[in-house]
Amino acid sequence: MFLGPSTGKSVHPGGNVRRSVFLVLLTLQISPFTSLALPKRLVLGLDGVAYRDMKALQAGVTYTNNWGRQLHRQAFTLAEGYFPVSRLVSTFPSTSDVAWTDIFGDRPLPGYQRTYFSVAANSQIVINGITTTMEHESQMHWEMENNLMRTMGYVYPVHTFEYEMHETIRNFWNDTDNDGSYYVYVRATDDAQHLDRDIFAMLSRLDGQLQAMRARYQKHEGRDLQILLLSDHGHNHADSFKRVEIRPFLEKAGYRIAESIENPKDVVLPTTGIEDWVEIHNAPAATETLVPLLTHLEGADLVTGRDPDQPNRFLVMNAKGERADIDWNPTNDTYRYSTETGDPLGYRPVIEALAQKKLFGADGFATADDWMAATMTNRYPLALERIVRGHTRVTLNPATILISLDNGYAHSGWLMQRGADLSTFSSTHGALDNLNSDGIVLSNFGPTRDTSSHRVAGQFDDFSGLRNFRAEDNGAEWITKNGQALTRIAHEPFDRDYTLLPKDGVFLRVWSPQLTHLDLNTPVMATLEKVKHFSDPQSQSWTPRPKVVLGRHLTFNHPISFPDQCAYERIYALPPDLILKPQTEYRISGWIRAQGKSVSLFEFNFYTDSQGQPAAY
Ligand SMILES: [Zn+2]
Repeated sequence: MFLGPSTGKSVHPGGNVRRSVFLVLLTLQISPFTSLALPKRLVLGLDGVAYRDMKALQAGVTYTNNWGRQLHRQAFTLAEGYFPVSRLVSTFPSTSDVAWTDIFGDRPLPGYQRTYFSVAANSQIVINGITTTMEHESQMHWEMENNLMRTMGYVYPVHTFEYEMHETIRNFWNDTDNDGSYYVYVRATDDAQHLDRDIFAMLSRLDGQLQAMRARYQKHEGRDLQILLLSDHGHNHADSFKRVEIRPFLEKAGYRIAESIENPKDVVLPTTGIEDWVEIHNAPAATETLVPLLTHLEGADLVTGRDPDQPNRFLVMNAKGERADIDWNPTNDTYRYSTETGDPLGYRPVIEALAQKKLFGADGFATADDWMAATMTNRYPLALERIVRGHTRVTLNPATILISLDNGYAHSGWLMQRGADLSTFSSTHGALDNLNSDGIVLSNFGPTRDTSSHRVAGQFDDFSGLRNFRAEDNGAEWITKNGQALTRIAHEPFDRDYTLLPKDGVFLRVWSPQLTHLDLNTPVMATLEKVKHFSDPQSQSWTPRPKVVLGRHLTFNHPISFPDQCAYERIYALPPDLILKPQTEYRISGWIRAQGKSVSLFEFNFYTDSQGQPAAY
């Protein structure tokens, strides 16, 4: 399904059929080769492809692979019609979910990782990373949904990559009802690099497949297929890792690694996978003591924190104990870097350059774009805005402290410590420096510019035509007005209409193509049940075995009405008398009666806040 550029208006199934017929007639006239229109553009989200690797590959690179063979490779060349690759600077932390969400302008996710700390629930929450699909994944026309295949990606990444390429191409040719962009997410490029596979070989193989696809497309459509490659971050290609001993370090200093924050010495450390950054959630008053302490942690390169007393002030320190303040003015998105001792980011030459160009206001602030231009090729690109955004808006539950590690150090979770030998892993990302942060923008239809995760959409029509999964799949979520307000790009009507919600409270958002044909007031029935856990919370197990107890039935039948009412979606206020047990995990499942039978619409788990209201995130 195609969404009209920037209108966010969806094409409803009835219209869709008529439109398809129209397209058939139209394409019959234009092209004698095909009966249906294929997408104009293929947008490939290649997880973790580094700018420096693509740049080398475009120029031609000679290297020795893991078996000691010397190889020369060149791909995505100018001769093939590709423009020079540009940088796409990631978020901080430079991790996949956070960066892709920012790239597509979606509402930020509850956490940086799929194990996260919820402030409202005051609890660490574990989401199954293999079976859960995030919004940016659902927006793809094709992505690997199969859980077994996803797991295989960590074991046989090159085979998985072959499968992803094959399926991308097969599904693209079947998409004859989309005259815009076809979006694909490829994850094995990232898995492969974590496991030290040859990324140059993989990208060269992809180039070959895309060349064949372009030739076939040219024949069918009489025009070149537009190809856009994007990635979400770089990869540091560290040879080996030393584990950061942050848990013993904090415990020795008298802190308690906990699942919730009950006293000033409690810290929560959500961790999944192997990464070269660390998030810490602590009582705000502890930040001022913890930041300098953590600069002594072996492997810490930079430690950043948010000032608990001045919410628009952030501090950054390096391992030498040098310290600077970052001040942010949110009204005009300007930043000031004030060194206190030393220069932790090494930004003095940048400041001199900006001063020479008279780009500082009287108060010492310069705009985000001026800082970007001055630091794009810096060791810490766009550090000020990325640190600020990392602590304020790239997730709905920002950390109080973020640590960027030296390349060669890694932080890993329990599963990885037990289940995998760190020595089999090579290369990671997440840190603030350019090796970790610089991803790619590469096109064959127009020159691109160096950019960042939250600016790149501006070069491509705000990525219009992402798959509108809410019109095609069943699902539900709790939402709040404040959370929705962080959605950067309006992809569908509710991304604008949320402003009409009352300021306070949690709302249930339900979507399904089933709702399209039903009266607005057709009741959605739901059951609420308490979930009891028997799993060891320390284990961060992928699948806690919950036991569901005691149900409560709810009926939602008066959705909030919007001028731009979406047929496939309903937004409900909570019944005023609904008080649940505070800080407890529940499961909600919902269904409707349609054509005489029950149709299941959704089922998901959530936590309640201290008032017994569902915590939306
Ligand atoms: Zn990634």
